[in-house]
Amino acid sequence: MHGQAIARGDVITPEAAHDPSRYVARDCAGLDFFAIDVGVRDLLGLYLAPDTRAALEPHFQRMGELAGGQLDALARAADQHPPVLNARDRFGRDEDWIDYHPAYREMEQIAFGDFQFHAMSHRGGVLGLDAPLPFVAKYAFQYLFVQAEFGLMCPISVTDTSIHLIRKFASAELQAYLLPKMLSSDMATLWKGTQFMTERAGGSDVGAIETVARRDGDDWRLYGDKWFCSHADADVALMLARPEGAPAGTAGLALFALPRWLKDGRRNSYRIVRLKDKLGTRSMASGEIRLEGAVAYLVGDVTRGFKQMMEQVNLSRLSHGVRAAAMMRRCVNEALTCARARVVFGEKVIDHPLLRRQLMKLIVPTEQALSMVMQATRCMDEANAGSSEARNVVRILTPLLKFRACRDNIPVATGSMEVRGGNGYIEEWVHARLVRDAHVGVLWEGTSNINAIDIVARAVGKSGAHKALSALVTKRLEAAQALPGTFRRRLAETFARAAAFAERVAAEPAAEPSARRAASALYHATSAVLLAFEGAQPGVDPRRALLARFVLDHRLAHRDPFAPDDDAFEHAAIDLVLGDGDLAPAEAMRLL
Ligand SMILES: Cc1cc2nc3c(=O)[nH]c(=O)nc-3n(C[C@H](O)[C@H](O)[C@H](O)COP(=O)(O)OP(=O)(O)OC[C@H]3O[C@@H](n4cnc5c(N)ncnc54)[C@H](O)[C@@H]3O)c2cc1C
Repeated sequence: MHGQAIARGDVITPEAAHDPSRYVARDCAGLDFFAIDVGVRDLLGLYLAPDTRAALEPHFQRMGELAGGQLDALARAADQHPPVLNARDRFGRDEDWIDYHPAYREMEQIAFGDFQFHAMSHRGGVLGLDAPLPFVAKYAFQYLFVQAEFGLMCPISVTDTSIHLIRKFASAELQAYLLPKMLSSDMATLWKGTQFMTERAGGSDVGAIETVARRDGDDWRLYGDKWFCSHADADVALMLARPEGAPAGTAGLALFALPRWLKDGRRNSYRIVRLKDKLGTRSMASGEIRLEGAVAYLVGDVTRGFKQMMEQVNLSRLSHGVRAAAMMRRCVNEALTCARARVVFGEKVIDHPLLRRQLMKLIVPTEQALSMVMQATRCMDEANAGSSEARNVVRILTPLLKFRACRDNIPVATGSMEVRGGNGYIEEWVHARLVRDAHVGVLWEGTSNINAIDIVARAVGKSGAHKALSALVTKRLEAAQALPGTFRRRLAETFARAAAFAERVAAEPAAEPSARRAASALYHATSAVLLAFEGAQPGVDPRRALLARFVLDHRLAHRDPFAPDDDAFEHAAIDLVLGDGDLAPAEAMRLL
């Protein structure tokens, strides 16, 4: 699975034998990120309709080549040259604007112009398809793109989700005004979107928002300060504000669309006051905004702003899970490429048993996240086709993915850096950027605590969404007859225990401190079932089923902290997972 996929980089010609750089292991630059990704290629065969897969195959290939090549080089340059805010022009006018490095602009052209990420699930005409792309395909493109560039995926995603809110909630008149601009693929006419919620008073505590919306004839005008505004110079920002006289808390918030430019061509009355100097996502501009009576268009029902905005938050959370899965894949590919080339103590790094175990700690969470992404996006497609069962599954899979994959991303990024040794800490390799970017996933669009509470208290406690998930798990296990019966039973029992634990935590308010543990257990149990199901299907590498056993053994079982890791299963399974060539399904199933 991970053997054949990565170029080995171990052939040393006579000329190269005298080159001092031969000691330094190569990285993934120049590799085709789609071609080397057995996991995503296998799973697209399972989760995407064959005709759609066939139609999109050349585009996946093109994105795979771009991500390992041109995009990767552009991302490196954009990270090293972050955006700069200009508060005034040379005549002293408050014409604030942001300068971006040309590399960032080139990435925008690829994303918004060529691939039309922002429009692909809203209209036909993207990548040669008459109809909008299924979610499975859309997020597979995001997954490939983010392996090169993380920062720009925020503006792409918030433009996409802004379009969703406008299409779903705005009046026909507002849609007619905004959508043609927001769905354009011409960079000269495109209006990109974003969302500003967080204020000094609260990010998690959205009800604390102090921005006021005042009536001015037929217009609404906004007054206040937004403290975290990613994609700060977007052409239209969706935001929450409290109409004068509305009640406190989230119930009193309305949703508005704030245009950067007014209909008469003047700049709207708000200022980008400052850009944040961030740990990661450095290519993209996050700023602070002061609203000085800015004109804004009401979106939807004035009393349902928060509920409407939550649709965006959930879509955005899914995208964050996808981004974490993507960054982990890049980390795994980097670690394997390095470990296969670097020689220490007379042996390749990858041949040292302790290092092999460390590689598994990177591979298992990466493949877990990919399985969860594929299942969640498949359910979104089914929900859009009218399945209420699938909608309930999405309700819980989305925060589960956001919560756990974003957390796993951090140790995976650090672990991958460690495999490269000291070079991994140096900015000219990609690891430093991966480590920096990984951390934001546990902050924006709901911190880990907020997502864990959402999973346990609301998705499980209020909506009972775990029941729909349980039905899906049962279906998946029934469709995995190739697995040994004992292993299937173990998976079913483990999931049942995880679901019961989440129910119990949801039912007992005093148990809230266990919410993260309950959410993690549900994530691990679900992803183990999915990995096992997938590994038991024809056309999918059976090594995925072995990974399911690692999840059960390491994430959901007690281990003696005072006993050595001498597990026979593990030794054999690690050799198979890191090994070359095709693996006969029977061989994998025998080990389980
Ligand atoms: C790079 C970056 C870009 C961002 N871009 C945007 C943007 O474009 N638009 C936008 O609106 N926001 C944006 N944010 C803001 C982000 O969404 C918030 O920072 C986040 O929601 C957390 O809110 P906070 O900072 O107010 O922290 P707080 O809400 O004050 O949280 C502090 C701590 O308290 C914990 N906590 C909070 N509530 C609870 C609870 N009920 N139980 C237990 N623990 C709790 C949190 O988990 C956290 O650890 C961005 C943030 C970053 C870092």
